[in-house]
Amino acid sequence: MTSIQRLSAVGAALVIGASALTACSSPADQSLPANPSVIILSGDGMGPQQRTAIQYYMYGLDERQPMDALPYSGFLDTIPGDPEYAVTDSAAGATAWAIGQRVPNGTTGLGPDGESVPTLMDIARERGMATGLVNDHDVTNATLAAFGSPVPDRDLKVDIATGYLDNGIDVLFGGGEKYWYPEGEPGMIPDEGEDDVSEGDQNLVARAETEGYQYAYDQTTFDALSGPKALALVQDSAKRRSTEIEGYDYNSDPHYVAPEKLVSKALDILGENDNGFFLVIESDDLDSDAHEHDAQNMMLAGESINEMVKVITEYQKDHPEVLLIVTADHETGGMTIENVLDDGEPEPNSDQVADDPVPYWAETPENMPLPGGGVPKRSGPFTIKGTDRQFKVDWTTPEHTGTMVPVTAAGPLAERFSGVHPNTYVFDVVNELWGSN
Ligand SMILES: [Zn+2]
Repeated sequence: MTSIQRLSAVGAALVIGASALTACSSPADQSLPANPSVIILSGDGMGPQQRTAIQYYMYGLDERQPMDALPYSGFLDTIPGDPEYAVTDSAAGATAWAIGQRVPNGTTGLGPDGESVPTLMDIARERGMATGLVNDHDVTNATLAAFGSPVPDRDLKVDIATGYLDNGIDVLFGGGEKYWYPEGEPGMIPDEGEDDVSEGDQNLVARAETEGYQYAYDQTTFDALSGPKALALVQDSAKRRSTEIEGYDYNSDPHYVAPEKLVSKALDILGENDNGFFLVIESDDLDSDAHEHDAQNMMLAGESINEMVKVITEYQKDHPEVLLIVTADHETGGMTIENVLDDGEPEPNSDQVADDPVPYWAETPENMPLPGGGVPKRSGPFTIKGTDRQFKVDWTTPEHTGTMVPVTAAGPLAERFSGVHPNTYVFDVVNELWGSN
């Protein structure tokens, strides 16, 4: 589909929306704000047990963690529209939110047959709203691409970056600068290994600047961003995980910008648009940690999500027209919370010889049961904050699982998220809020 065909498809969707809006005249609809903004915050892989572990370890038993303190909560199922698989990947999970249809795994913002359909971000842009994408990892990752740059294959990272510029997404903050620079140009963050080598064939940063984007690559240039268009390619939060392995200290890395600062700046810039904004945020770090069976860093990523939620709920105090939705595309790792001891004896972890992943820093798996039944490295024990009690975690798979995921929400129509719904419901509620369904 060409961009013109794409726009007419959006137009058609909006015409349908306009007639639906005319037909609606209940008091509930009249109480909705005139120009509502929407924020979707996804903790990739953040299932019920992850949320619980983050609560125990970071916040204890007396204070409810910010993402769970939102006034409305429910569950979303996560099954993809796949002929073979019962468990979704991030691409299909985010696409369900973005276009309101279940699609096969790997599909990134396109319809079930690979056809181009309007995403929530297209609809927002048609409404004259500002648009933004923020990630603590590559901004070109599948979840955000499903909204801002639909592609047939989630691995087409350079195409995804190009599509963001083609689609004029106003705010693009995250890591993965190698996809924006041509081969042979290292960019502004020093390369440290093969993983960092530039991959594209054109300089997309230069193109962005030509098209009016401000560009940031470290804390100082980031602080100077004022919009309305801004591109920040900074150090991945994932690098934090190498702290104890390589002695890396993100606090002293000038290219590291904390995720909550990315969100705060995005709100400052996007909030300038009188028509409202649509912002999608992902913590990809949490999923990567769970794939590697790294509970400690998964919970640290969860703390970052809570810090982002705090920034947003503070913003909502002056901007009650903003709907915040906090959820996940799926669970990762089949994680469970267990006692450290069973009748005084160590509680063994499940036999993971076949399933345990080899983390990037090691040559062998590290979560197999230890001799004598000790808690494996990176599974705990962890202390429940403010108590003497400990828990450990166990894992059933290095992959995703098919459990329902919690959703919490605050703002206009947040009450719609009470109960159990399909993941496509996110699309439905946002369209209802915008009067475009
Ligand atoms: Zn994953």
